[in-house]
Formats: sequence, C-alpha cells, structure tokens
Amino acid sequence: MATDYYGVLGLSRGASDADIKKAYRRLARDLHPDVNPDPEAKERFQEVSRAYQALTDPDKRRIVDLGGDPFDTGPGAGGGGSPFGQAGFGGLGDIMDAFFGGAAGMGARGPRSRVREGDDALIRIELDLEQTVFGTTEEITVDTAVLCGTCTGAGTAPGTHPVTCTTCSGRGEVQSVQRSFLGQVVSTRPCPTCAGTGQVIPEPCPECGSEGRVRARRTIPVKVPAGVEDGMRIRLTGRGEVGPGGGPAGDLYVEIRERPHEVFRRDGEDLHCHVTLPMTAAALGTTLPLTLLDGGETDVDVRPGTQPGTVLTLRGQGAPRLRATGRGNLLVHVDVQTPTRLDAEQEKLLRELAVLRGEDRPASASGEGHGGLFSRVRNPFK
Ligand SMILES: [Zn+2]
Ligand SMILES: [Zn+2]
Repeated sequence: MATDYYGVLGLSRGASDADIKKAYRRLARDLHPDVNPDPEAKERFQEVSRAYQALTDPDKRRIVDLGGDPFDTGPGAGGGGSPFGQAGFGGLGDIMDAFFGGAAGMGARGPRSRVREGDDALIRIELDLEQTVFGTTEEITVDTAVLCGTCTGAGTAPGTHPVTCTTCSGRGEVQSVQRSFLGQVVSTRPCPTCAGTGQVIPEPCPECGSEGRVRARRTIPVKVPAGVEDGMRIRLTGRGEVGPGGGPAGDLYVEIRERPHEVFRRDGEDLHCHVTLPMTAAALGTTLPLTLLDGGETDVDVRPGTQPGTVLTLRGQGAPRLRATGRGNLLVHVDVQTPTRLDAEQEKLLRELAVLRGEDRPASASGEGHGGLFSRVRNPFK
C-alpha cells in the first residue's frame, strides 16, 4: 500500500506548496539528527524528508495524487538510498533552505551588528499616600549601563579602528561540512572569533574593554503624577540600559509602592477613614473636625441619631483621577462607642433615661412584650 505522504506531514490532500514547506520545516527542526539524537526521530525524519520530496516535485506529487508511490520503482531504480542523493530535490542548498528557512533565526546570514538595543530596567520606589494622591517629583538613583565616554560606543582605543575578522573574512559566520546519511550536511554558525560581527577590535577601549558601555550610577528625577496607585509603573523612555556597542537605551520603569497611612486607606480614587463618636454625640448629633490628607481642616456634620457603621461621604475629597478630571470621595466610617465605667451619677442618669424611653424592661427572648429595648431583636433560634 502506498505511503500517505500528506499524512506524514500532517497535511491533507490539496495542501499548498507553502503549507508543505512550512510543515516540513516545523517537523525537521524537531526531528533533525543534529538536534534530536533519538533513533526514532531519525527514522521519522527520513519519512518526513521523503514525504517532502514526494510532494514538492510536481511529477512525484502527481503520482502520489493518483494513489501511487513515486519512490516505489522497484529494486535498483533510483539508487535506493537517501532521497536527497537524487536529482529532483535540487541539491544541498534546498535542504539547508528548507531546513533553516530564510529568516528562521537559526544561522541567519551575514555579519550581525555589534550594536544592539539595551535592556529595560525596573526600579521600585516607596511613596507615602500623600505623594501618590497629590503627585511628587522623586530623585531616584539607579545603577545602569551608560555610553562609554572614551570611545562613545565604538569599543576601540582612541585612534584605532576595528579590522575585518580573518577567521570568517568578515562574513560573520563559519561553515562546517559533515558527512551523514543525508550526504553532506553543511551547518553554518556564528564566527567564534568575532561573535558573528565580522570585525575584531585589535585594541579595545581601555575604559569599557570594547563593550561600548560602562556601569554607572545615575540620579534621575521622576515626576510622579497625582493619582498613581500602588503597583503602577511609570515608563521613562530611553532611560534604561545603553545596549552593547553603545546601542539605543531601553526604557526605565519605575514601580510605585504605596506605604500604608496611619489614618487614611486608599481604594482607587476613594479614601476611607474611621471616626469614633461617643454614644451621646451619635444620638444628639455633632460637628466633627477632621484633618484631611492634604492637611486641610474640615467640619463633618454628624446628624442626630447616627448609627454605628454609618458612612459619611465627603465628595471630591478623595484622590485625583489619573486619566480624567475630578477627584474621588472621602468616606468617613462612623463607629459609636458605648460608654464603659460609668460613675454613680452617670449610671443614675442613664437609668432614668432608660425609664423615660421605656427601655428599662427587657423583653422576652421570643421578642414578645411591648416597646421594650429588645423587642426588635430577632430571635436567632426561631
Ligand atoms: Zn569605551
Ligand atoms: Zn569572524
């Protein structure tokens, strides 16, 4: 029975040439004996290669599509060995091309630049709530890579120049030829002498040792906008590390950490705080002086009969909105304190009050009784 060459590549009938090439490359990268020593992989690679050959040659593919096997031509025909030894595949160049692809990243052609982009850097700063809410400018100190002042990135000692690498003649890559079941396999790798750049620096810069950049400590002012929150990052474009060879600097990210505040708690654009009122003030109502986060003073109006857990909203006294106008709110949570340690006179007054309010006779636990203090307590066992 004829081999299912489409199936070997994981394709269905009618696959395009591009699909076939893509499927082959993907499989070859996993299965090639150079990267996969498993004997099964080797066998599978042979199958895959054979399928690729069968489907990329129009004559052979026609035979496949007619249900035949283009390689099944009887003993002796076609040499019986590696399919790559035959005409029709197009020779070694095609193998390498199929295997590596033009821009597959493995063995990219030509010398690569010595100059590369620098890394991004991250630094964390701790700020007080006042600073995140109202904004600030912080001086931060970072250890980073900066352009070498002596060679300005060239990496060469003053008055000298790079020369062409003699190992690779400036190509940046070297080839080695190995014999294998495929016939000859040419592999290309970056030149070890020049690290693929095609050039060597005979007299390195004494400052940076040909790196083109040096480590340095820098102080940078960071403008923190009002309304930032814990965990947010401010990006300073081009303030990261300078790249090898003096390449363009990456970005510097400044991550905000917000220190907890003694009085105020932050929830996005809103601030929260707690105040504790004596029972009498909650009952009678009062005006409560409150110091705001910005140090300003305000009076909070507490209505008579304010219950524990009441939340009073002070509009516009929260944090500014980072990406919009206006400010959030300040939410004042009211706790009511029940008096303890009453002296004799206080106790007497309270008892009189209880009698006046009809709160001196506890109702039964079932909630029966009239107007007693506990009459509205729901019996949890009912
Ligand atoms: Zn230098
Ligand atoms: Zn070289």
